[in-house]
Amino acid sequence: MPPRTAVFFHAHPDDEALLTAGTMAMLAAEGHRVVLVVATAGERGLADLGPGEALGETRMKELYQSAAVLGCARVECLGYGDSGLSPKGGVADERPDNAFIDADTEKAATALAEILREEEADLLTIYDPAGGYGHPDHLQVHRVGKRAAEIAGTPIVLEATVNRDPLLRLLRLAGKVYRFPPEFDVRTFESAYAAGETITHRVNVRRYSRQKRAAMAAHVSQATGGDSDRTLAVMLKVPGPLYRLVFGTEWYVRRDLPPGTRVRHPFDPGPK
Ligand SMILES: [Zn+2]
Repeated sequence: MPPRTAVFFHAHPDDEALLTAGTMAMLAAEGHRVVLVVATAGERGLADLGPGEALGETRMKELYQSAAVLGCARVECLGYGDSGLSPKGGVADERPDNAFIDADTEKAATALAEILREEEADLLTIYDPAGGYGHPDHLQVHRVGKRAAEIAGTPIVLEATVNRDPLLRLLRLAGKVYRFPPEFDVRTFESAYAAGETITHRVNVRRYSRQKRAAMAAHVSQATGGDSDRTLAVMLKVPGPLYRLVFGTEWYVRRDLPPGTRVRHPFDPGPK
C-alpha cells in the first residue's frame, strides 16, 4: 500500500488517546502520514490547575507528547475556546467568547479544510452524530468535520466511535469491582456512541496498546488532577491484560459503505 495521509480531528487534547490512538500508531508504523488536529486546547478540562489559559498550555504540551508517542508528523490546534460541559451534561452557560460550540460551522470547516487540502488528505476522522458521550464540542466536531471533508473533497470520512454494546457490558461488570463515583451514571452510555450493528470498521490495535496507554498517560493533568471521575482517570486504573482486551479494538462508521459492511483497516475500500 503506498503511503497515504490521515488527518485525525478531535475536540480536546486527550480525545485522541481515548478514541483513535491505536489506529494512529498503526498507520504511522505502516509508513502513512498521520496528522492530529484539535479544535480547542481543552482549557476548561477539570484539573488541579483550575480552568484557564495555563491549563490550555499544559494540555497542549501533553498533546505534543501524546502525538510524539503515536508517530504524528504534524499537530495543529484550530484555536477555539473549550466550551466546557455543564454539570448536568450539555452546554455550559458560562463559556468563552470563542467557544467552539458557538463557532460558525462554515468558518471552522474552512479552516480545517485548508489543512486537509495542504495535506492532500486521503482520510479524515470525525465523531459520530451523538458526539460520543454528548459533549457539545464533540457534536461540533461531527458537524464541522463533515463539512470540511465536503469542502476539501476528502474521499474517506470515518466517524470515530465506540461500540457501545461491549462498553455497556464492561461498565456494568466494572461497577461490581470498582467503585464508580456517584456522578458516574452507566445509563448515560445507553444512547452514547454507536450501536454495534452500525459500525463498519473494527480496527485491531492490540499490537499498539503500549503506545495507546503511553498516549493516555501523557495527559497527566486529566488523569490525576481535580475530580477523579473523568473517563481517563478511570481507564488508566484498568489493569494491563484487561486493558489490552478492552482497548484492543477501535471502531469507526463510514457512512458511504453499505450497512452491514465489516472491514478491519481504515483504508480498506470495502465491498466492490
Ligand atoms: Zn473531548
